[in-house]
Amino acid sequence: MAKQEQLETYLVQSGNRTDDQKTGAVSTPVYFSTAFRHPGLGDSTGYDYARETNPTRDVLQNTLSKLENGYQAFALSSGMAAIQLAFSKFKTGDKIIISDDLYGGSFRYFDDLHENYAIDFITWDGQDFRFLADAVADPAVKAVWLETPSNPTMKVIDIQKTAAIAHQYQTEVFVDNTFYTPIIQRPLDDGADVVVHSATKYLGGHNDILGGAVVCKSAENAEIYEKNLTTTGAVLDPFSCWLLIRSLKTLPLRIEKHEKNAQAIVAALQTNPLITQILYPGRGGMISFYIHDESLVDPFLRHLKIISFAESLGGVESLITVPATQTHADLSEEQRQKKHITKSLLRFSVGIEDSEDLIQDIQQALAQAEIALTANATEV
Ligand SMILES: *Cc1c(COP(=O)(O)O)cnc(C)c1O
Repeated sequence: MAKQEQLETYLVQSGNRTDDQKTGAVSTPVYFSTAFRHPGLGDSTGYDYARETNPTRDVLQNTLSKLENGYQAFALSSGMAAIQLAFSKFKTGDKIIISDDLYGGSFRYFDDLHENYAIDFITWDGQDFRFLADAVADPAVKAVWLETPSNPTMKVIDIQKTAAIAHQYQTEVFVDNTFYTPIIQRPLDDGADVVVHSATKYLGGHNDILGGAVVCKSAENAEIYEKNLTTTGAVLDPFSCWLLIRSLKTLPLRIEKHEKNAQAIVAALQTNPLITQILYPGRGGMISFYIHDESLVDPFLRHLKIISFAESLGGVESLITVPATQTHADLSEEQRQKKHITKSLLRFSVGIEDSEDLIQDIQQALAQAEIALTANATEV
């Protein structure tokens, strides 16, 4: 892993000196042009048509690749487009091992791949490595797909151990690194082969860009993905590329503050009797917690003054989600119960506001919710 100072300097400087010949612009220009003029036959500036390459996207992709310490990165129109590109190398009959607690949209996509393209999925709990060793021995198994910490129950999976076992059978390891970001965890350095991001979350960081990224470690995968992305075309538009370059400059600062806030909030909420359990892996800005009584959830959300009840994560603004009815609504009730995604589970994306204000907001909303509930109960 590159030293933190190097990475911070690299990110802040990314895009600078890309236009030295013409203007010396410190912020890299946005190239909206979809076509690039050729001097003559067989002659090119390196840019022909924007679905293939675009100078602004190139700056972003180089930055993303450096950030995850990869060979090559691809910037896509959403996290789901990135997941789809990552899966574009698999074929009917392939089997993929997936960890059992993933982003809800990933499950929906995998169901589609299973039903319509006969790709098989084997669910793994991310902890039982004997099970993994047995499962990867099947030659039809082509990859292990995981999210760590898991979503929304925050289980941590050992990437190094997973990769060591998977690679004994030439099985590749894919990590959705949206929750921790490369500031906390660099899966490619831990042995993973491909990293995927919803850049809509921490990489974008301001709840205003929809984007995704695939970063791979081998030239072989880079070649496959470059061809498949040019073919299918879900590339990130130039303006979002530029916004994302700008966002990445402050990623280390933001993650530091998200994490500090989350740690302070976990410590403060531990003593609140209306919260029965807090799930926090110790790092990052994502917290899940169970409220004592399911009927407190709605009044709690209605009484929040700073934190928004909204379905996303990773932005500077604090958001709280109810996974059972939002991000994980497409799972069956039985699947949700098995994963402990109950209606009293809340997922909190801690923003970069003042931590005391956030703690106060939660405490007051919980207290108000209980008052509202007790009042209702006495009326009846
Ligand atoms: C949001 C999310 C996705 C999907 O990304 P979009 O940008 O919404 O398409 C994938 N994985 C994780 C972990 C996410 O949180």
